[in-house]
Amino acid sequence: MSDLADLYQQVILDHNRRPRNRGKLPTANRVAHGDNPSCGDQCSVYLRLDGDRIGDISFDGSGCAISQASASLMTTQLKGKTAAEAEKMFGEFRDIVTTGQAPEEISDVGAFAGVHAFPARIKCATLGWHAALNALKGDPVTATTETHKD
Ligand code: ZN
Repeated sequence: MSDLADLYQQVILDHNRRPRNRGKLPTANRVAHGDNPSCGDQCSVYLRLDGDRIGDISFDGSGCAISQASASLMTTQLKGKTAAEAEKMFGEFRDIVTTGQAPEEISDVGAFAGVHAFPARIKCATLGWHAALNALKGDPVTATTETHKD
């Protein structure tokens, strides 16, 4: 049985204490906002597409430790990737948090395997990823950025 001590592993705590790539990205040409009302999490993802690659990426938001740490970790994973690669990585991440089966070679992402024991938190863990993929697709949700209140 997993417990909260497992869930909030060191990687998650670290990303929560020292979020990577947090804040608006001035050079962003794609933005999307994600909302997880069941937990109260919000996450905006800013990214700059250089051709078909993510040249730079950042996130901003508020919410539980899982949602914010996951978004932080995601930005470190997606930089330099193509949209297709990002979608594949999201598929792998979603498998990790829904099954609890973490491939050993992806240690940081594997820290989120404990989330699978808390089904309600899976949405927290995937919130930032959904926003990032929406940003990559250029979905209309990008329009919400201007009204996003901090
Ligand atoms: Zn949450």
